[in-house]
Amino acid sequence: QGFLRLMQMLVVPLVFCSLICGSAAIGDTKTLGKVGVKTIVFYLFTTALAISIALAVGTIVKPGLGRDTAAIQTQEVTVAESTTLTETLLNIIPTNPIGALANGTMLQVIVFALFVGIILAKLGEKVEVVSNFFAQFNDIMMEMTNMVMMAAPIGVYCLISRTFSNIGFSGFIPMAKYMLCVLGALAIHCLGSYSALMAIFTRLNPYKFIRKYFPVMSFAFSTATSNATIPLAIETLDEKIGVSKKISSFTIPLGATINMDGTAIMQGVAVCFAAQAFGIVLTPTDYLTVIATATLASIGTAGVPSVGLITLSMVFASVGLPVEAIAMIMGIDRILDMARTMVNITGDAMCTVIVANQDGALNRDVFNSK
Ligand code: ASP
Repeated sequence: QGFLRLMQMLVVPLVFCSLICGSAAIGDTKTLGKVGVKTIVFYLFTTALAISIALAVGTIVKPGLGRDTAAIQTQEVTVAESTTLTETLLNIIPTNPIGALANGTMLQVIVFALFVGIILAKLGEKVEVVSNFFAQFNDIMMEMTNMVMMAAPIGVYCLISRTFSNIGFSGFIPMAKYMLCVLGALAIHCLGSYSALMAIFTRLNPYKFIRKYFPVMSFAFSTATSNATIPLAIETLDEKIGVSKKISSFTIPLGATINMDGTAIMQGVAVCFAAQAFGIVLTPTDYLTVIATATLASIGTAGVPSVGLITLSMVFASVGLPVEAIAMIMGIDRILDMARTMVNITGDAMCTVIVANQDGALNRDVFNSK
């Protein structure tokens, strides 16, 4: 718990400062806009791809066939409050930036930090003191990250053993087929699609990337919290993979907030599972609807544990699946949450490397080093 809190302590100040420094360093808004648009397009594309893979796996393996659906009516299920698209978009703009910082509302923090960074670049020497302040505070936060990470091996060990001892193996067996489908689709996406995209766009060895990024992935696995991995992700990308912080300080917090490929995969398999369990036949239009809603749900899923299960109700509702079906998969969701969070953050980093490469912000020597 202590380790987790230490990691969470770093997130808001680190994202805020590094994003200000990053956008101030990129300076001109045109380049920043280009990087932003490219990143968002990549994020959306990989999420849609992820969910398509999940639907294919779920349709072929049929994890929901032969399930007893009678037992589930008694359990309580939380249904996500539906917000309209306009509301979701408006919510990106903070009415009170200090409130956004205090509550850790990531997208709002990102927007405000971008404004500050762009204006610092625009005003140049006139605001040198403030620029220096943020640059130095950013150094402080990076140093703090280094210190906290010294506790990582013990923290990760404790977190993982606690989760497994809480769930126990007896909980897994009845749901094994569903779990294997989710894990299989996650593996296909992480090792297959990401690697292909990376090889095509950067001509770099994707497996080298995964080996170097593995500490961040295992941290995501143990915490099931994308947000908490932001500091370590930025640092690892900078030191081991050669991505300039100018890019990663923008793309990583954004990805941790809106890009959830792993979550989309769980949702795709869950849709197939529930439809099969309840004997509901999904039409091709339903599949397209699921792809669209799960991609949007991924934007709305916060990078903290279990939220994917809540936004799943939105996806179920979009194709008329009974929301109670979520109760069936709730018990074992934590373990899948850990695995999907790992894919969530790997997707962010993969897109970051591609965008950085195109923008000349990737040091290939660092990437190719041992
Ligand atoms: N735990 C996930 C994350 O932090 C979100 C989710 O799928 O529940 O990325």
